[in-house]
Amino acid sequence: MVLHSDGASALHRRGSYGWPPGRRFVPIDDYEALLDRAFEQVPKGITDRGSWTLPSPDIDIEGASTLIRNLGAIAERMDRDPVHLYQYLQKELGTAGTLDSGRVILKGRIPPRAIKGKLTSYVNEYIRCEQCKSPDTTFGKDGRTTVLRCQACGASRPVRL
Ligand SMILES: [Zn+2]
Repeated sequence: MVLHSDGASALHRRGSYGWPPGRRFVPIDDYEALLDRAFEQVPKGITDRGSWTLPSPDIDIEGASTLIRNLGAIAERMDRDPVHLYQYLQKELGTAGTLDSGRVILKGRIPPRAIKGKLTSYVNEYIRCEQCKSPDTTFGKDGRTTVLRCQACGASRPVRL
């Protein structure tokens, strides 16, 4: 994953998001708390990405649809394929939708809390190293098995994409 040492972590500690420059994300306190919990176990010194944060999802419920305006930006920060993230959300939330230029429209009125919970689950399942909790991981192959490989400690575990 790409390392951004642009002061985002200092901003994050003050309760606002500093990434990406020039774009504004509205902090959502409970999402921030979820992510803090997800990453509080990252050992200091193993990776600079211990203070890794994601843009708060920009969610709107419009009529019978739920809009996530910045899924593309979230996936970019995750260093993951937006299509994979989108498909995961569809499956986990039990709905269908469309992904267009980083914007997702899901059928149904989906509580933002549920979406944030699934984003955190995605981080735990497809990004975070189980051994050292680093988010600095990539997908690789071990024989025919797809594995999540940690760039910080070298651990790997099988994943189902
Ligand atoms: Zn690790």
